[in-house]
Amino acid sequence: MSLFELTLQDLRTGLDRREFSSAEATRAFLDRIAATDPQLNAFITVCAEQALAEAAAADRRLAAGDAAPLTGIPLAMKDIFNTAGVRTTCASKILADYVSPYDATAFARVKAQGAVLLGKVNMDEFAMGSSNENSAFGAVRNPWDTACVPGGSSGGSAACVAARQAPAALGTDTGGSIRQPAAHCGVVGLKPTYGRVSRFGVIAYASSLDQVGPVTIDVRDCALLLQAIAGHDPLDSTSVDTPVPDYAAALRTGLEGVRIGLPKEYFGEGLDTDVRRAVEQAVATCRDLGAEIREVSLPHTGYAVACYYLIATAEASSNLARYDSVRFGHRTAAAGNLIETYSRSRDEGFGAEVKRRIMLGTYALSSGYYDAYYLKAQKVRTLIRQDFLDAFETVDVILGPVAPTPAFRLNEKTADPLQMYLSDIFTIPVNLAGTCALSLPCGFSGSGLPIGLQLIGKPFAESDLLHVAYAFEQATEWHKRRAAI
Ligand code: GLN
Repeated sequence: MSLFELTLQDLRTGLDRREFSSAEATRAFLDRIAATDPQLNAFITVCAEQALAEAAAADRRLAAGDAAPLTGIPLAMKDIFNTAGVRTTCASKILADYVSPYDATAFARVKAQGAVLLGKVNMDEFAMGSSNENSAFGAVRNPWDTACVPGGSSGGSAACVAARQAPAALGTDTGGSIRQPAAHCGVVGLKPTYGRVSRFGVIAYASSLDQVGPVTIDVRDCALLLQAIAGHDPLDSTSVDTPVPDYAAALRTGLEGVRIGLPKEYFGEGLDTDVRRAVEQAVATCRDLGAEIREVSLPHTGYAVACYYLIATAEASSNLARYDSVRFGHRTAAAGNLIETYSRSRDEGFGAEVKRRIMLGTYALSSGYYDAYYLKAQKVRTLIRQDFLDAFETVDVILGPVAPTPAFRLNEKTADPLQMYLSDIFTIPVNLAGTCALSLPCGFSGSGLPIGLQLIGKPFAESDLLHVAYAFEQATEWHKRRAAI
């Protein structure tokens, strides 16, 4: 087995036993990136030299017997995390040359443990999209079929792990951006509860929804990486000061006593037959493992996409107002006065989808429309959150599909934004409710594309998700299949 095929846990074991060095492992991933990225375009920036220097430092730390859980482990970061000294583009022309003076907390935490930064991975511009086609740095291709999208917006994070260009990556999820690409690329993705992981230094899209999480090969690695990034951060007032459990302790087999709810709204019309079959098979597996299966209802599911596209765009229109080209970011060469500088810089710097969202959000917030749109969406959001809290009165975990279809073809949905928005119909409600959810492989379509299973947990009950996911993974072989790239 090549070093680039190892999981985080296997890399940890191998490094601790001195079977290989961090420099060797890092070199293996850099070679793998060089060999496969011309086909995938998962990386915006590869930090080859710096990564080898960090690996050498990690090897010294290992030799000194001062290793933390991630010491010497190579990782990829979505290009939305500020990384001091390495450019952070958010896949936008407006930030194409931006180098942050500071690190995002999630990155600072993995770095403090000795992780090695392989590079910054591609995404939809400002995390707005479901296919990674909205990137100023070009679309990412799905390692299972390069004619297909990897999903988005953390398309680079999922594709790079699926192609074993990195053993794991961090992504962000505002409406499904970790879970949906993880599903389409056959890897594990977790959106933690809002407040579980610090968002300090993460470029903001929709601040009441954005959350940071891991993308990994398997569930054990997911627990390991979550452990490294979870916890209160005084620099992010929305991060919550509740104790972080030992996530590895949740990795148990057997599901006796676990009540799993199937929301009837997630199994209706429009669900692809391969996805339905795979998810129903997963339900049978969970039942065989001892879980009690019940039907639940999330009655306001049908309003979630509309509600999300009011709240997310409203917040985006405020967050993106800071890109005025004055202190940082692209500045036009063709402006006669200050107002023209603002408008031309933004016109040249932002892509079409970002402009669409800014306009939608500005409209929803404007005087005379605020009550009808934004305020009403906030009320609907409360109903959606209440749906989940009611369902969790009778079940421990909710199970359903991640996305209505497997990965679609490049350009298939670019002409129809509404079709694109509907790919997040099962993931968006979780962000509106603020709770946690995990995606893991549960089968393949007739054409060989991976299918994801979504597990949704109570607020701050990431351990419940890891338990069910681990038990399911141990009972199945889906996570062992590899993309042919
Ligand atoms: N696809 C959704 C959107 O475009 C979600 C993106 C995300 O989670 N960042 O907004």
